[in-house]
Amino acid sequence: MSSKLRILVPVKRVIDSAIRPRVNKAQTGVETQGVKFSINPFCDIALEEAIRIREGSKSLVEKIHAVSAGSIKSQETLRTALAKGADESTLIDVGDKDLEPLSVAKLLAKVVEAQDSNLVILGKQAIDNDSNQTGQLLAGLLNWPQATNASKVEVEESSGSVTVTREVDGGSETVKAKLPLVITTDLRLNEPRYASLPNIMKAKKKPLKVVKPDDLGVDVSSRLEILKVTEPPVRQAGIIVGSTDELIERLKSAGAV
Ligand code: AMP
Repeated sequence: MSSKLRILVPVKRVIDSAIRPRVNKAQTGVETQGVKFSINPFCDIALEEAIRIREGSKSLVEKIHAVSAGSIKSQETLRTALAKGADESTLIDVGDKDLEPLSVAKLLAKVVEAQDSNLVILGKQAIDNDSNQTGQLLAGLLNWPQATNASKVEVEESSGSVTVTREVDGGSETVKAKLPLVITTDLRLNEPRYASLPNIMKAKKKPLKVVKPDDLGVDVSSRLEILKVTEPPVRQAGIIVGSTDELIERLKSAGAV
């Protein structure tokens, strides 16, 4: 293979997936006060895949760089990524600003340039905004091929090409591309590992660089205004019917049959 893999893994800090999100009082987003945050599950899968590629062939991977755009608290997410196996990291400190996917993609494109990355593995979506856009936008900005919703990734060391199996409706599709490439991960790609205590300690000494959007020359101002965020309607309680006849009667009176 002509060049080694320099893998970039963007990781987002989001409300922990085990928590039921609640809309804030102002109805502008999800309540974040007093809530546990974690690495976005799809980003965790992306990171795990990068680590497994290296475990498959140590000589193949030059470095795994994790990057996060968010408040200074996203340092925690990067430390988790470093503890799991990333070598180094960058925090793009945007304060409390909620970034649109295009802004994230523009920032990531600059980090790809700075890190000379030739493979970006992202989550297919962030579970807080469900945008499912960043990987695709990044591939567009970089003019790189993209393989989205990956359920299997195989790197061919000899040819420098990557084969990706994608989850599509009712089946799978297998695609092949030469590097550089953008991959987004689906749920079934792998099961992420937990960070061990010794590795959590070691991660404290791994590089974590902090930059601002201005340092990267990227304008992150919003183009969309969030008008309102609402919770789904409360489901009505069900009833238990005594017989099939009663069920049919009730369905008829509800106009369902
Ligand atoms: P989205 O397009 O917002 O659903 O996010 C898809 C993927 O893009 C995530 O799984 C991350 O890998 C990446 N991403 C989105 N937002 C950020 C962010 N603020 N920082 C780092 N990576 C991000």
